[in-house]
Amino acid sequence: MKITDVQCSVLLDEHHNRDWVLVRVYTDAGLTGTGEAFPGGGVKEAVLQLRNMVIGEDPLDIDRLVQKMIRRIYTGGARIQAASGIEIALWDIAGKHFNCPVYNLLGGKYRDRIRVYGDAHHGDSLEDIAKASQEVVDEGYTAFKFDVDHYYPPEHMLDSYNKHLMPAGIHHIVAIAKTVREAVGYDIEFGMDCHWSYNVNDAVAVMNELETYKLSWFEDPVGPENVEAMLRVSERTRVPILTGENLYGLQGFRDLIARQAADILAPDVPHVGGILETRKIAAMADAYYIPLSPHNICSPVACMASVQLCAAIPNFTLLEIHSNRVPWYDDLLVRTQPIVQRGYITVPTGLGLGIELNMREAARHLKEGERLFD
Ligand SMILES: [Mg+2]
Repeated sequence: MKITDVQCSVLLDEHHNRDWVLVRVYTDAGLTGTGEAFPGGGVKEAVLQLRNMVIGEDPLDIDRLVQKMIRRIYTGGARIQAASGIEIALWDIAGKHFNCPVYNLLGGKYRDRIRVYGDAHHGDSLEDIAKASQEVVDEGYTAFKFDVDHYYPPEHMLDSYNKHLMPAGIHHIVAIAKTVREAVGYDIEFGMDCHWSYNVNDAVAVMNELETYKLSWFEDPVGPENVEAMLRVSERTRVPILTGENLYGLQGFRDLIARQAADILAPDVPHVGGILETRKIAAMADAYYIPLSPHNICSPVACMASVQLCAAIPNFTLLEIHSNRVPWYDDLLVRTQPIVQRGYITVPTGLGLGIELNMREAARHLKEGERLFD
């Protein structure tokens, strides 16, 4: 079997104003695979540049083809995101070729359904936060998170560039945690995401104040570039730290894991290098008893690639679900049931990724100037 073509079509998630970069790989055996690359400047162009590198190759040589696509690129970026999209499509082809789901090719599955956590959205007031918390729990989720850095009154962080969180900001975040616990109790898992916003001392200060409220994780307290700083935060607080969504490849996670600077890792499958690269990260993390809770904000295609991976690793805890509030999210795949049901995604048992793209629905949401692949 040989790869004959790679095509790329960009849809627009107008709800979040984000591109969904879908990839399709074609073979001379008539099998096709569908994948998705994490969006960003130049990603579609990178997919099309990589096309000539894989045409004529055996689509089952997945690991070697990824190395071929990303070698000589020792930094992250569009090229690795594009290679991730092609890699996911190659797994889809491999599953169809070997007549099994992708998880079988990864060593088999540990679980039949994947527990997801919802991203709760809220307004500014504590009443809104209580209401949003109750709503996600009513939808059946047993875990959720809030972004806490987007809702500051300006006096809480006078200057976002110096990463200093004012005492009023700390009190505000603690009040959010208290409100959530009063609304949903302590049996629901609850995290907070602050997108690398703080300096080390302020991160530690707010996390120590949050200990009472038993957060399951505090996400990205400090910048992703400095493992030593993350380790310093980690050693000075009992609140678990989750990080990793913007890192690339096993090497990008190596020091974080080996120094045990974080408690939960959140690689993003269509960003980090694909399904197998995430499998490698999971294996290294598992040697340190560190769990994975993958970042997941793309379309249902990348989501279901993540589901295959999460089914096949021992140290999976939770998968993020972010985009399923897009009104046509479920419609993008040919299926009769919603993708997320009562806080879980059932692992599909169909061939490859176990999904079929709804071409008519995809065509409706093409970004301006785009054409849908064949
Ligand atoms: Mg995040």
